Amino acid sequence: MTTSLLSFHQLRDWLCCPQLYAYKHLHMLPDYQHQAEQERGELLHTLITQESLGQSIQPPPDLVELWQNYLNGMLPFREYPSHSEWSYFFQFKTKGMSWGIHGRFDLLVYLPDSLLIIDWKTGSHSLTDSWQMEWYAWCCHRLRSALNISADLPIQTQCIYLKDGRTQKVLFQPTELEKHEEEFSKHIAQLNPKEYAFIPNPHSWQQGSWCERCTYQEICPEGIRYCHERADFAV
Ligand code: SF4
Repeated sequence: MTTSLLSFHQLRDWLCCPQLYAYKHLHMLPDYQHQAEQERGELLHTLITQESLGQSIQPPPDLVELWQNYLNGMLPFREYPSHSEWSYFFQFKTKGMSWGIHGRFDLLVYLPDSLLIIDWKTGSHSLTDSWQMEWYAWCCHRLRSALNISADLPIQTQCIYLKDGRTQKVLFQPTELEKHEEEFSKHIAQLNPKEYAFIPNPHSWQQGSWCERCTYQEICPEGIRYCHERADFAV
């Protein structure tokens, strides 16, 4: 049985729209709409890694505010054992398929009563952030022995939005994470690139279509049709 690699971002893109998944992960078309934000995020993560290695950081002028919010967000956790930029990989089986689930946690903190996953966000709040945090908590649940945490320790997640310092926290008990595993397993099982045609099938959100926020709107037939319909409607 061969193993296919799968990250949260791949699964998210597949569920948002299989055509979007194909553009981004099979044809490797760049995500132009979010490019600047991604570059800022990558730079900030490089600075965070350097800081965790004890280097002194002078952020560029456009990152000064974000950097200060990072330092403030980090303050309560410095006294606890932690892993920064921790890459993970584990195997997961669905019917007839084996998956190599991989990704990276920004920060894992061993608190006295839970394991805390911190995700630093350089952009604005996204509709898929909560789902990403459920995924991260589930991944830690699968990795309990590698992380050296007990089977009944709760796992909590905290998104820290560095633009304004806001946070979004969720605490997961092990039983909830078992339920999330069932849900993720169903979604992952649908993602079989050998059998699926990558047809446009945009997920709907808040009574709209994912095409509304898709970076590939101008090259996708469904995206172009969607834009025209909206233009006609606006006239
Ligand atoms: S424009 Fe719409 S249909 Fe086309 S890839 Fe994007 S979300 Fe899918």
